[in-house]
Amino acid sequence: QLPEAPRRIKALSQDVVNKIAAGEIIVAPVHALKELIENAVDAGSTGLEIVIKDGGLKLLQITDNGSGIDREDLAILCERFTTSKLKAFEDLTSIGTYGFRGEALASISHIAHLSVTTKTNGSSCAWRAHYGDGKLVPSKPGQTAEPKPIAGRQGTQITVEDLFYNVPSRRRAFRSASEEYAKILDLVGRYAVHCAGVSFTCKKHGDSNMGITVPANASTVDRIRQVHGSGVANELIQFKASNDRWGFKSDGWVSNANYSVKRTALLLFINHRSVESSNIKKAVEQTYATFLPKGGHPFIYLSLEIDPHRVDVNVHPTKREVNFLNEDEIIEIICDEIRTSLGKVDTSRAFMTQS
Ligand code: ADP
Ligand code: MG
Repeated sequence: QLPEAPRRIKALSQDVVNKIAAGEIIVAPVHALKELIENAVDAGSTGLEIVIKDGGLKLLQITDNGSGIDREDLAILCERFTTSKLKAFEDLTSIGTYGFRGEALASISHIAHLSVTTKTNGSSCAWRAHYGDGKLVPSKPGQTAEPKPIAGRQGTQITVEDLFYNVPSRRRAFRSASEEYAKILDLVGRYAVHCAGVSFTCKKHGDSNMGITVPANASTVDRIRQVHGSGVANELIQFKASNDRWGFKSDGWVSNANYSVKRTALLLFINHRSVESSNIKKAVEQTYATFLPKGGHPFIYLSLEIDPHRVDVNVHPTKREVNFLNEDEIIEIICDEIRTSLGKVDTSRAFMTQS
């Protein structure tokens, strides 16, 4: 028997390509929200208000008081690779802002209903626009897609509704809205601790109780108190470490030897972007092992600033993973510093109980 004739190779339609790309960047509602928070902070906002419905699957809304978006830019706002933050490939190595490749809003517009209300300082009114598949669309059938002037205050409000409405397989993968909401609170809590000078609120739609509230003028310790409670906020020590050779500086607040919980809380920011690092987590846990009872774990808020030339941020569209040079050396210096701080607190305590 002859082998079957090969199936012909065909290009996927642009629509399918866009949806696949979007689904790689936005796996869960929290990933869309992270992009929106970073955009708001990039725009110089000092106040962020976040409202969530059904774990973000029904509604993600974020209102900021930042620069706003020019009316002239609204037409291309949600096109792929449109950005105000990056012009040449070389810029990738010295990028100071969070976002950098203009994919977030485009992606969201392919897998959700997206609307934007925005006002710049120079504009006499706000503008409201709706997006679908990267383009301006009418808010209702029969209307024009052009942005409409409305009253509004300075800044930008982004509303994302019915996330994954056109990706039923992804939509079905979500087990519970409360699980997604918990991920969202975790993320907002991280930025609320890190972004000094910025107020944050986050709540469920229709709920009068705030999930998170942090005023703009709160100190870092007060931010940790608001988000994680006094139990940990009263047991923190500040540390700083830097090294010119490895091109980094870091500072943060870590729990002392009196504080111990079942799971490590690591709030890690590299160049002001919330990231994960299992290497840093492992090393810090080892550092604490000699100070805490068996099975006890610390709280760590660590902000690491690394010379942008030494960081590779162009790893993966989700940007959850960040690689940098001399990782081992940098981690060792940080852990040494934490060890020294923990030791100091230990001896002062022993001294106090003696006297
Ligand atoms: P990127 O952040 O990588 O530039 P995005 O798709 O996230 O790409 O955003 C595209 C552009 O839209 C940004 O470069 C910025 O100019 C503008 N923008 C998005 N969100 C806001 C906001 N909240 N305030 C002001 N401008 C915004
Ligand atoms: Mg962005």
